[in-house]
Amino acid sequence: MALIVQKYGGTSVGSTERIVNVARRVAAFRAAGNQLIVVVSAMSGVTDSLLKLAREVSREPTDRELDVLLATGEQTTIALLAMALHDIGVPAVSLTGAQAGIVTDGVHTRAKISNITPHAVRSFLDRGDVVIIAGFQGQTMEGQITTLGRGGSDLTAIAMAAAIRADLCQIFTDVDGVFTADPRAVPAARKLEEISYDEMLEMASSGSKVMQARSVEFAKKFGVVFEVRSSFNDNPGTLVKQETASMEQVVVRGVSLEKSQAKVTIAGVPDKPGVAAALFTTLANANLNVDMIVQNVSLQGTTDITFTLHRDDAGKVRKVLEPVLGTSIAQDVIIREGVAKLSVVGIGMRSHSGVAANLFGALFEAGINIQMISTSEIKIAVVIDESRATDAMKAAHARFGLDATPAPTSPPDA
Ligand code: ASP
Ligand code: MG
Repeated sequence: MALIVQKYGGTSVGSTERIVNVARRVAAFRAAGNQLIVVVSAMSGVTDSLLKLAREVSREPTDRELDVLLATGEQTTIALLAMALHDIGVPAVSLTGAQAGIVTDGVHTRAKISNITPHAVRSFLDRGDVVIIAGFQGQTMEGQITTLGRGGSDLTAIAMAAAIRADLCQIFTDVDGVFTADPRAVPAARKLEEISYDEMLEMASSGSKVMQARSVEFAKKFGVVFEVRSSFNDNPGTLVKQETASMEQVVVRGVSLEKSQAKVTIAGVPDKPGVAAALFTTLANANLNVDMIVQNVSLQGTTDITFTLHRDDAGKVRKVLEPVLGTSIAQDVIIREGVAKLSVVGIGMRSHSGVAANLFGALFEAGINIQMISTSEIKIAVVIDESRATDAMKAAHARFGLDATPAPTSPPDA
């Protein structure tokens, strides 16, 4: 008998029919002799509409009240799923995050889990119940309701799997697993059988958001192996785990794309200590999330600093930097929208050379200009024109041998 933690995301529980579908799937796993903990998200769209309601009644709702409000989304799903299970004769009990023993710090709307005491969960399991837990929520030591940040149900599942030492953790979603590239843009993309935590994190931060990044970090820290798979079929998914020697043989695991970026160049920046600190403190204080910072060497005592950020924040940049323009900190700011960030990711890069040259070659052959380059140990990212982004993705995907080979139509000769 295995103890399995399953998580079903918003789309998988997006209607009452789908909740009934999840109930049937859970019942089948239980009938096969397993103990089950099921973590669910709010039905798709519910968290967003709750946020909209809040904005309709208040210009600045407090984070505490937002948490009280948002936690109702998941609470609706747990009760409905428990009822659907009862209806097909499966004993089940629904628990809020607090009832499941999830204790967090007091940072409302993005609380961190501080510990989990799964006593109640254990005793319900021992009684033979399927235990259904509201994702995305917890409670402070003082009994205040908290939430774990958008996408936080993933974290609930991973953390619960770690705390209760589950044999298996399965993240059910609306895609078949983690792909070498977004299959909507690259038809030759393949589902990966396995991926390392670090690759998954890089892919997530580079636009392939299958899971909340924090939950993957948590899984890495506590060594929770999990599978990402679809709730709409029975196909095996992608296993996310600690890297193995054989995983390093693959140079590039996947290609991901982040669209809707803007490129900001701050020109005429003096080359002396404290200037970058002043500029980026100003940006950070305005809550602007910058990415991919590049500073050139200075030839005449001043230099340029270029960075990217989401297009929606581009307008704010000029406003925030206006006061320092034409001063001893910076002369001018040039903002260009319509760019995208393409990343190739793979732990094999640590031990293989020539990956950058290969990527640049593929982009050259496709006639795509590279505007910025940045690298990490397991990633090479370039900023390119957004209008060529899909072409670039396809070119990189093919160049690194990621394209699926069509299945043979007849068996090979013996
Ligand atoms: N319902 C929450 C959200 O939409 C948490 C989750 O779905 O994981 O962010
Ligand atoms: Mg989600």
